[in-house]
Amino acid sequence: MIHVSATPVEPANWQNLLASSITDPEELLRRLKLDPSLLAPARAASRDFALRVPEPYLARMVPGDPHDPLLRQVLPTGEELQDQPGYVLDPLGEQHANALPGVIHKYHGRLLLIVSGGCAVNCRYCFRRHFPYEENNPGTAQWQNALDYIRQDASISEVIFSGGDPLAVNDRRLAWLTREIAEIPHVRRLRVHSRLPVVIPQRVTPGMIDALCGTRLPVTMVLHVNHGNEIDAELGRAIQQMRRAGMTLLNQAVLLRGVNDRIEQLIVLSEALGDQGVIPYYLHVLDQVRGAQHFHVDDAQARDLVGRMLTRLPGFLVPRLVREVAGEAAKVPLHVDLVVERGSTDPFA
Ligand SMILES: *Cc1c(COP(=O)(O)O)cnc(C)c1O
Ligand code: SF4
Repeated sequence: MIHVSATPVEPANWQNLLASSITDPEELLRRLKLDPSLLAPARAASRDFALRVPEPYLARMVPGDPHDPLLRQVLPTGEELQDQPGYVLDPLGEQHANALPGVIHKYHGRLLLIVSGGCAVNCRYCFRRHFPYEENNPGTAQWQNALDYIRQDASISEVIFSGGDPLAVNDRRLAWLTREIAEIPHVRRLRVHSRLPVVIPQRVTPGMIDALCGTRLPVTMVLHVNHGNEIDAELGRAIQQMRRAGMTLLNQAVLLRGVNDRIEQLIVLSEALGDQGVIPYYLHVLDQVRGAQHFHVDDAQARDLVGRMLTRLPGFLVPRLVREVAGEAAKVPLHVDLVVERGSTDPFA
């Protein structure tokens, strides 16, 4: 008789993956076979903003490479603790754009709901790394206030689920909120800004898709992928499920020194997104949040990079280079001139 092991095999569902994320810098370094001298600064910097890396994201990193572009986005380093003038706690002034707890209404026609304060991954460059989420995690009564706010403002034609990460809540909550919003006649579109499908592709399930796509509202999913190595087969499958359900898929990335500040990296990223049917929407210059100064790419280089992309890629695979400026009516586009690399356009050169 074959002995069946009594050890239950935990299904790799997204809640388990979320719960089993790596939060201990020592474990991260050990798993990736990295130099233990990185530990002391990682511990120091993670006291300010915790380390958090889900397993499916870790699996895409190259062991032994301290410069891995995915690792760089999540590993706390001593550079975070060096203050630099101009880098502040709330660079976008969001704490003052809060109409109500859980509601950010900065731009005409679009309202952002903080559906969840939590994220599946803690990105070191995050402009919300110091955001007081505790005050922005609405209970049911506060959700009613947020919904009333949308009902009372007929100029709101689009609601954006954001966070933190809005897909960190369960499908019942997502479905309830989506149905409530779909009942407001002047809301025409639903958008979701999430990194969860990227770092835990298992988050994309038939239940999640039904919750978002089960109403009259067209749904746009804006992913957050910064580097081509983030797109693996699992993420590809998740993207195809969302596309088959009729969602429009866009991507926003942040331009980050040491992650995606070389032209080849940006082109590989755009091509890989294009292969999946995802349109690169925005490339954000870094928000000047305290602790992220080492990711800074200066404007001249940012313009040059996108100017090169314009001469190498189809127009629809070139993201718009933008900056968020507190008090402005929209994200502010940076002016980009074409940059022709000598020899690169002539196949016979
Ligand atoms: C980025 C953002 C939006 C959406 O802006 P789009 O240009 O429409 O993508 C809406 N509200 C807030 C607060 C934002 O930060
Ligand atoms: S997933 Fe988005 S909100 Fe969360 S830490 Fe990363 S950049 Fe910030």
